[in-house]
Amino acid sequence: MCYPARSQASPPESVHVIRDAESGLEGVIVLHSTKLGPAAGGCRLWRYGDESAATRDALRLAQGMAYKNALAGLPLGGGKAVLRLPEGSFDRAKLFTAFGRKVAALKGAYVTAEDVGTTVADMQVVNEATHHVAGLPQKPGLPGGDPSPWTALGVFLSMREAARRKFGSDLSGLTVAVQGLGNVGARLCHLLHEAGARLVVAEPRSDVAAAVACRYGAEIASVAGIAQARCEIFAPCALGGVLNADSVANLQARIVCGGANNVLATEEDGDRLADRSVLYAPDYVVNAGGIINVAAEYLGWTTTEVELRVRQTDLRLAAVFDHCESTGLPPHRAADLLALKRIAAGAASSALSNAA
Ligand code: NAD
Repeated sequence: MCYPARSQASPPESVHVIRDAESGLEGVIVLHSTKLGPAAGGCRLWRYGDESAATRDALRLAQGMAYKNALAGLPLGGGKAVLRLPEGSFDRAKLFTAFGRKVAALKGAYVTAEDVGTTVADMQVVNEATHHVAGLPQKPGLPGGDPSPWTALGVFLSMREAARRKFGSDLSGLTVAVQGLGNVGARLCHLLHEAGARLVVAEPRSDVAAAVACRYGAEIASVAGIAQARCEIFAPCALGGVLNADSVANLQARIVCGGANNVLATEEDGDRLADRSVLYAPDYVVNAGGIINVAAEYLGWTTTEVELRVRQTDLRLAAVFDHCESTGLPPHRAADLLALKRIAAGAASSALSNAA
């Protein structure tokens, strides 16, 4: 079937090119949507060939954040900052001070945090220029800190829901292939083991793979072979873009559900999964535990509120699967549509309350 490309579905609200000659800051802040609240999304510092490559990445990531935040039920829009890593040595504190001023100039329309290439220490520097930043050192008893345990819990609950839909069973006795044993993957293995699942794992750090194999009786697969491992469920917890035409054709799993962002190389790969009757649990629906924790830090919520919201991840996934059943859409497209609807509904209700 032919569907519209996702990128045509919703253009960004605004794109802010940011530059500061003194510190070497060069990048872009994209506010994809502020209809549900401030556009929240991390700040990536990465090497890009040119400005348009950085902008393309920021546009894609900002849209992903808008959809993720909307479907997680957060009072936040979506945005992203992408900074080009300067050539040679540079003064990091100066760069992030300049970035903080650019965030401050947006007067709360954008909320930043860490992402690939940036750290808690960078965000502390940003915090000297603006309050619109999360991912700061955790205060005792409050949300914040490492979000991975929340992400892993949301993925686990989602996997249980997907297994119920696909096999009419719980996870006990099913084999799950976990790709990547970092913060999310290792924690997920623990939860799966407790639930009685069998594990096949792959991880380039062989000592880490061996430790997980020993602790949970997991079988170790090669890094190259994990996506084709014999299993019922494939859980990508390392890289984006792992599902492409080739890997989808060779997948043994009947469910894909993992923590990694941007698992589908293209929209069409999601369609290919559906054509093969593989149930795909959309990445940004199931891995929202981390952003819920970050949002709670920024919005001043309690840890109890974080847990409550993360424990509803399976209900949000169930709503996506229900939408698939009623529309005939594959899950990645159904999720996008629901996110767009939620953003539009949020915009309509705030227009009504402004008019009242
Ligand atoms: P991490 O860096 O701690 O773990 C990634 C692991 O994958 C590492 O152990 C790495 O060695 C391994 N790896 C790298 N290449 C691999 C390969 N080819 N095959 C198998 N393993 C490989 O990262 P993380 O925090 O666990 O996050 C994992 C994924 O989940 C990332 O895509 C991240 O963007 C996404 N994510 C994480 C969170 C979070 O809360 N940490 C939230 C949302 C999404």
